[in-house]
Amino acid sequence: MNLFIDSHAHLNDPAFDADRDVLLTTQLPAAGIVHSVEIGCAPDEWQPALQLCDKYPQLVHAVLGVHPEYAPKLSAQALTQLAALLPDARNVAVGEIGLDYTCLDTSAKELQQNTFSQMLQLANQVQKPLVLHIRRVGEDYCAYEDTFHLLKHEWKPSTRTPYPAVLHCFCARYEEAKRALDMGMLLGINGCFSYKKNEYIREAVKKAGADKIILETDCPYLSPQGKRGQRNDPSNIPLIGTFVADYLGLPVQELAEITTRNAKALYALP
Ligand SMILES: [Zn+2]
Repeated sequence: MNLFIDSHAHLNDPAFDADRDVLLTTQLPAAGIVHSVEIGCAPDEWQPALQLCDKYPQLVHAVLGVHPEYAPKLSAQALTQLAALLPDARNVAVGEIGLDYTCLDTSAKELQQNTFSQMLQLANQVQKPLVLHIRRVGEDYCAYEDTFHLLKHEWKPSTRTPYPAVLHCFCARYEEAKRALDMGMLLGINGCFSYKKNEYIREAVKKAGADKIILETDCPYLSPQGKRGQRNDPSNIPLIGTFVADYLGLPVQELAEITTRNAKALYALP
């Protein structure tokens, strides 16, 4: 059986309230999922993410931070709380953090940039890798420009893990991929890779190579092709892996081994 890691999930989302435990105890192990990394990216998600780790200590690991869309939720008190939680052994990275210029109506650019800077300062102190969320508007890639600029000037990449960051939900050109790879990052590949219109993502991933990627669902969103419109969950990782392996011309088993090894290295998982 091929063993996989879901490197980015939101299993605490209310979409899973009815069957979260069935998924975690039955469906994930049946699909070969050995670890699922739970993202707590707003102050009210941090404790629930850690509690999910406590309930499933082998399977679930947490990543805590503030998503750019939730920047307005970060009070001074919450920032202090986050600083205290990040060193916790259950927390394996800082994320998802970054810039998202598709949600500027709810979260202004300047606030997002300030929040991202604060997250980088915390990451510098705790020396854990980053889970980056960057979303552009149409063909305007300035969210990437601004993110790379801030990283270059304000980030001290973690030297405690072989990869200092992952560019989660990679959906850009090889140009952006290359800049991330040059900084030692991995690319997080999910259902977007499988959508018919996204040939540019597939081409960028092919150029990057399997050695530079990890698999994720970003569930409950972004179900792979064939399951679009349905709720996504970590048991879809083998299907996402099959899309990627087929495109790259690799056996699925080999892709599973590479991506599982990469995700373990990134997050320093057992
Ligand atoms: Zn996410």
